[in-house]
Order: sequence, then C-alpha cells, then structure tokens
Amino acid sequence: MADKVIAVADHRYRASLPIVPAKLVAPSGELRDSLHRPLGDLRISVTDRCNFRCSYCMPKEVFDRHYAFLPQSSLLSFEEITRLAALFVAHGVGKIRLTGGEPLLRRDLERLVAMLAQLPTVDRTPLDLTLTTNGSLLERKAAALRTAGLGRVTVSLDALDDAIFRRMNDADFPVADVLRGIDAAERAGLGPIKVNMVVKRGTNDQEILPMARHFRGRDVALRFIEYMDVGATNGWRMDEVLPSAEVVERVAEEFALLPLPASAPGETAARWRYAEPGVAGEIGTISSVTQAFCSDCNRARLSTEGKLFLCLFASRGHDLRALVRGGASDAEIAAAIGLVWQQRDDRYSELRSAAGPQAPAGEKRVEMHYIGG
Ligand code: SAM
Repeated sequence: MADKVIAVADHRYRASLPIVPAKLVAPSGELRDSLHRPLGDLRISVTDRCNFRCSYCMPKEVFDRHYAFLPQSSLLSFEEITRLAALFVAHGVGKIRLTGGEPLLRRDLERLVAMLAQLPTVDRTPLDLTLTTNGSLLERKAAALRTAGLGRVTVSLDALDDAIFRRMNDADFPVADVLRGIDAAERAGLGPIKVNMVVKRGTNDQEILPMARHFRGRDVALRFIEYMDVGATNGWRMDEVLPSAEVVERVAEEFALLPLPASAPGETAARWRYAEPGVAGEIGTISSVTQAFCSDCNRARLSTEGKLFLCLFASRGHDLRALVRGGASDAEIAAAIGLVWQQRDDRYSELRSAAGPQAPAGEKRVEMHYIGG
C-alpha cells in the first residue's frame, strides 16, 4: 500500500487552536477588534474545488489532477456550518456570503441556504444572504436557490469576448452560459446582481468598455476588481494591475458618471451611477492594491474545513472545527470567536501599500479558493 504523504508546508495545516476564555461572556451582538472594527460580514467557503482554472486564482499548473483537494470528511457539514454561523450572527454578523472554490459545486447547497436563511439577526432584520459564483451552473440552480431563501448573487465575469473569457477561465468555458446564468438569476429575483470583473492589464483590460456597455441600463452593479496578490501561486506582478482610477477614466470617456455614497458600512467598492437620467445600473471599483480599505474591514472568513481567517491575506487560521468536533459547547465556541476577533489587528493591504512595490515579507499566504473570495 502506498504511503500517505502529508506536505507539512501546506498552509492548510497551519492553524492555532482558539483559546476558550475561563470566563464565558455571552455574545452581546457587537464585537470590535483591536482597531475598533466591528464584525459584520462572514464569508463561508463551502468547497475548495472549482471547475475554472483562472490563472490569477487557481492556475492549472498548480491545481492539476495531482493536487490534493480536501477530502469530504475534512469539510464542515451543513449542520456544522450553520451552528458556527449562528454564533457569528449572535456576535453581530448581518451578512453571510457563500463562496469557495465554486460554491455551486457543493452538492445540495440549497439545503444549506435554507438552514442559514432561518438565522435570526441581532436586530431582527433579515440576514443578508448572498453567494459568489462563476455562473457556470447558475442557470440550472437560480430558481431553487431563491426558493431556499438566497437573497442575491454576485457573478464573476472577466470578459464578454468568448475567446478572452475562455482563455481567462482556462477551462474552455463559453461566456454565453454565464450570461444565461445571470439572466436566470435576474428572473428568479436574485437581485440586485453584482458582476465582478478582475482586470489584468494586457489580458482583459480591453473588455472594460464592452462590459460597461453590456450591463448599462440593467439593474446590475458592475464592479472592476484590481488584480490582487492573494495566495502564493498566481505569480502576481504589480505591472499587471490596472489601477481603478484608470478604469474609471476609461468608462467616463464614454459615459458621464456621478459618484454614489457607500451603501453599507465596510463597503469594499467605490461606486458611480450613470449621469444620464433614467439609466439603470452602476459601476464600482474594488481597489485593494492602490487604495487599501483595511481601516473599516468588517469581514471574517470561514474556510472549507472550519478555520477562521481574519484577513484575505492571512497565513494562519484559527481552528474552529477542532472546537466543534472536540465537543465544545456553543457558549465556549462563541467566547473563543469573541476573543479571536477582539485580538485582531490584521491590515495587510495597508502594510503592502506602505511597503511600496515589494509585498511585505512573511509566511506563505493561504489561497483564495480555500478561504473564500
Ligand atoms: N468561484 C466563485 C467565483 O468565481 O466567483 C467564488 C470564489 S472566487 C475565489 C471569488 C472572487 O475572487 C471572484 O470574483 C474572483 O474573480 C476573485 N479573485 C480570485 N483571485 C483574485 C485575484 N488574484 N485578484 C482579484 N480577485 C480575485
């Protein structure tokens, strides 16, 4: 029998066991970190697998058939996810985003959506329950997700041109299927829909204007994301980042734009509407590289196997699954989560900006598909 080899350097195995404080303080509905940032948003990665191989996220050369994705037994079950999510909600989380990997690859995801949709928020307003998807399975699943209680979706789409899109997803997936998925989501009532386009200079920046033209006039928020140095496998280079300011300039050359205020605390996007009266749609930019937004980051991330990460660029997680499977009570896990958040001081993007073109040195960062985008 072949030996099972565990790569000890694998970032997925680096995590600390959260401390359960001796005195258990019940969640008060508001939690602040050491920089006074509230906990408001929980992103849950439901699978580390994806059917796309976008070079900026899961390059084919690394995530090939030899890559050891997590075994099923490592994944949090829907019951475990819901139990943890309920504790985060008790701490003040009002928004949950399901992500991955490609979340629609997780079997029976609708069942998880239905379980999460029942969670009562601290202020008794409905939980903002959303999902980020590459759209490949959305046409098939949109109606069932809506029926299960999903509020809205964000669809990633990097180009309208079929050849460019196929090159970017590196799985030869046609753009028409994603566009049909967006239409199906709109019909199912999963709006307002956000469409996320990662812009890589020299790869798809010629698609900025076609994308704006395509979605202008629809109730869709088109958001341009700066190509980020997440993970350690995408070979990120600063010269491939197209600064958001340049994206907005290019759109504004064709369409007059008016700035919009942030729609929620901790909003990641700067937003504009089209100045022409009566024209639906908006554009936004997410500028993690050129305009770090750590100062009001209210996001926690739960990895596929139940590790809590406090920053997209973190190297280490806090192993909540060990508490869950080790028999800890809800009160103990809630108190442990509280302590982890209160001690949080992550602000990677600000430090990167301060460091100039050189990214801050440190441990190998976790991959985005593992902790969820
Ligand atoms: N599979 C789903 C999808 O495609 O939307 C969810 C997971 S994906 C990791 C979430 C988002 O992260 C996508 O919009 C993707 O484009 C974005 N993303 C991944 N790597 C990125 C990078 N290096 N820079 C900027 N955005 C990135």
